[in-house]
Amino acid sequence: MYEWLKRSSEGTSNEERNASEGSSNKILDECAPKKSKVYHFHQEWELDYFFTMVKEKCCCLICNTSLAMPKKGNLERHFNTMHSKYQTDFPPNSEIRKSKLQALKSQLKVQENMFSGPIEQSVG
Ligand SMILES: [Zn+2]
Repeated sequence: MYEWLKRSSEGTSNEERNASEGSSNKILDECAPKKSKVYHFHQEWELDYFFTMVKEKCCCLICNTSLAMPKKGNLERHFNTMHSKYQTDFPPNSEIRKSKLQALKSQLKVQENMFSGPIEQSVG
């Protein structure tokens, strides 16, 4: 008796199982609002770090660097690294510090006024 060798062509399974089992109706609790966390600028930071709010941006009065997020940590780091001299030249809770802050703020207003200058119209 000859045993016929069956050519088992089952080697390549063409069955592609579409794993459509994952159609779970679970609703994730992603109710997070699109608005990112709002950081409120604290007025005392003007004296603490010489920062102020300019057009919804936290702006350094000393070097005019603007930070996107008015976070206390960012202000503190910037002030301590960039303007550590101010901490000694203008000690906290001192009159000289307040006057310096007022001077810087007045300068800022002057700059703002300069921006809104007359618009040159090119006559063709
Ligand atoms: Zn600065």
